[in-house]
Amino acid sequence: MNSPVLVLNGNYEPLNVCTTKRAMGLILAGKATVLENGRGVIRTVSRTFERPSVIRLVYVVRRPRPRVHLSKREILRRDEYRCQYCGRKVSNLTVDHVIPRHRGGQHSWENLVAACPQCNRRKGGRTLEEARMKLLRKPFEPKPTARYLFGSYLQENEEWAKYIDGW
Ligand SMILES: [Zn+2]
Repeated sequence: MNSPVLVLNGNYEPLNVCTTKRAMGLILAGKATVLENGRGVIRTVSRTFERPSVIRLVYVVRRPRPRVHLSKREILRRDEYRCQYCGRKVSNLTVDHVIPRHRGGQHSWENLVAACPQCNRRKGGRTLEEARMKLLRKPFEPKPTARYLFGSYLQENEEWAKYIDGW
């Protein structure tokens, strides 16, 4: 009952992922309809239900455009797990403030990059110019496309792809 279910807005925009249990609640309450099954059935004493994989709300939920939460995990993911100074993929990446905090650098998408411990140490509390170091690319706030938000589920839920692509 904890398998992930993709929830689409009334206009088919992917909204979030919930548990099968929550999805069944929405369906039974008449708030959502099933778009994809294919996971067998759930039996209760008196009834049998198909197990949903993708559901769609019967109404349109209005909400602000989602943003990717600024965190170390998401910085590393945006930077494809690569040190943004030397380009190496190492397992113990750190997050570096491009303009150091004590020099007025912000804790923001545009000022944070993945850095290997060696590059981070080498740069120290200096600016790029002072350290004579270069970034592979300019840091940016990632766009929360549906594939960015829900892509990690696709491997185990291939049938979601057609609902996710294009958003
Ligand atoms: Zn490095």
